[in-house]
Amino acid sequence: METHLENCIFCKIIDNKAPSEKIYEDDYVTCIKDINPVSTHHYLILPKKHIRNAKELTSEDAELYDTMVSTVDKIIEKQCLEPTATRTGFHWPPFNTVNHLHLHVISPVNNMSLLRKFMFKPDSYWFVSTDYVKSTLQSCS
Ligand SMILES: [Zn+2]
Ligand SMILES: [Zn+2]
Repeated sequence: METHLENCIFCKIIDNKAPSEKIYEDDYVTCIKDINPVSTHHYLILPKKHIRNAKELTSEDAELYDTMVSTVDKIIEKQCLEPTATRTGFHWPPFNTVNHLHLHVISPVNNMSLLRKFMFKPDSYWFVSTDYVKSTLQSCS
């Protein structure tokens, strides 16, 4: 099975074949600054394995998924973010932007415009929480 795709911008970034500002990296995930930040801090946690979106995660990816979610705490600490003012979540298909799974970390929520708050609205049809995705992983295992 292919884990990296030739024409995927996030796979290129992970392989250092496209420019980005990486703020954290380990064996499983890479965290970059969003090129279009919607607040003071806006980061994307990417699994190094190419997974198209949160809907395509399977129970086999549970460990990788947990690593992505626990990376949020590392980023909060590293960037000195206020946890209660930080919003995290995933796009839910068909409302994807880039077709490589990415967990948004946005802080502080109050600096977002109304439009952005709507775009990244927790547990809407288009943007879902980490807990929601976790629940779908458990139900299909
Ligand atoms: Zn990719
Ligand atoms: Zn996105």
